[in-house]
Amino acid sequence: MKAIQRRQEILNWLDSEKSLSLTDIVGRFSVSKMTAHRDMEILEQRQLLKRIHGGVVAQDRGQARGAVPAPVRAKEFDCLVCRRPASQNLLYSITLITGEQRQACCPHCGIAAHLTIGDNIAMAMTADFFFGRPHPVQKSFFVLGSVVAPCCMPSVLTFEAEDVARRFQKGFGGIVGRFNDALKYLQQELTVDNEREVCPHCKEGKK
Ligand SMILES: [Zn+2]
Ligand SMILES: [Zn+2]
Repeated sequence: MKAIQRRQEILNWLDSEKSLSLTDIVGRFSVSKMTAHRDMEILEQRQLLKRIHGGVVAQDRGQARGAVPAPVRAKEFDCLVCRRPASQNLLYSITLITGEQRQACCPHCGIAAHLTIGDNIAMAMTADFFFGRPHPVQKSFFVLGSVVAPCCMPSVLTFEAEDVARRFQKGFGGIVGRFNDALKYLQQELTVDNEREVCPHCKEGKK
């Protein structure tokens, strides 16, 4: 289990049990005391829980709000990156480690969110560009930089099936990759020209 998933689980347990001992965390995840301490420390730094002697207790959610970085405080149904309203077939939904839900207008902004606030993201779902079916981003096949750019540029589209992604790529260009390729691709694209906005397309649309 990844550290980020484990920390999310710790928060889930705290939600239902209100307190957890160090021994609970060590026992349930089969991790060392040091790892458990580190998790508790990190979650406390983010104000998601409070450490007490020998364990942790739930942090009041109202207080935790302040720990969420500014871009995440956007209106709930608008894109958390560019504030554009999210549309069904491009929807990219993000669950923060605080349990809060956020949406990106398209996989482009979804991936951009991972690049900027990745540490705060517990999981993310994307929709199939053709069929709209939601599925976890880790399972998705990304077509990166094709000429089909219904929302933000460069275009990032997601498909549930690899063969559909490859056929789409044959027709409309770009490259096919997985989640990690999408992160690398967008990071490169966004750092090529620092002057460029995260969503130049969205910005043009607003003019
Ligand atoms: Zn956006
Ligand atoms: Zn977009």
